[in-house]
Amino acid sequence: MPLTFTVDLEEHRPNETYSKRFPAIMRDILTFLEGRNVKATVFVLGKLAENDSGLIKEIADAGHEIGFHSYAHVHLNKDTAENFKQESHRSKAFMEDLTGQAIYGFRAPAFSLTRQSLWVQDVLQELGFSYSSSVLPANNPINGFPGAPAKPFLWSNGIIEIPAPLAKIGPLSMPYLGGIYLRYLPIFLINHFVEREPDQRSLWLYCHPHDFDHGESYYTIEGTSMLTSLLLWFNRKNTFNKIDQVMSEKLCRNSMPFIEAINAGKYEGLEVFNPGCEIP
Ligand SMILES: [Zn+2]
Repeated sequence: MPLTFTVDLEEHRPNETYSKRFPAIMRDILTFLEGRNVKATVFVLGKLAENDSGLIKEIADAGHEIGFHSYAHVHLNKDTAENFKQESHRSKAFMEDLTGQAIYGFRAPAFSLTRQSLWVQDVLQELGFSYSSSVLPANNPINGFPGAPAKPFLWSNGIIEIPAPLAKIGPLSMPYLGGIYLRYLPIFLINHFVEREPDQRSLWLYCHPHDFDHGESYYTIEGTSMLTSLLLWFNRKNTFNKIDQVMSEKLCRNSMPFIEAINAGKYEGLEVFNPGCEIP
């Protein structure tokens, strides 16, 4: 059973007076991965790569795949195709020069590849991406794409989409293998969902440096409510331990970055998904 370990490398600091905490945590994540001999896919925010180029180079030099997580974390439905294209073109080239490795993968900020932002597929193709891991194929209070396939598929231009693995609890579908879901759901439930995953190719875990940062003091994250910020702030102490319990020996052995899995032919024979007309 393969599992791709992914990190969305970003930070939520409200202003420059808050010290940067993500570099030290990212290095802890690298140590955690090294101890398990796991190579990950790390989706990096372009803005962050400009200011912390040394860290990005360290990640690439350790053998992890570098992907792109947009330039400034603007949700796609709040961006324009033109602006996204310009920023992404410049930022992708910067990171490729920096690391000496081509970037093939894209992850939209907060699963914001939805019916309202289908334009992004063509821009991704123009910019030379070959896959995306940006869709939450269900209704969701922030961003979701109900009706999109729950297993990997092709956009009509040939870009591979690897959607977030979802678990159903009553009427809710949630991406149980990452972020606050992974932090709050009990481990027996997570392992239960992993075992029941219908298409094992689509199994990927996602985390951010802040998911591990139990020493950070509380602040309200820009653009979110106090309740959301509190949920994001609590329950961080046990994250490494929790992931360790999900990453069984078997999962670690079969874990590989997305691009390696694609090149190994694990995503061949996917069906094309045509989302039809846009629903406003
Ligand atoms: Zn993000």
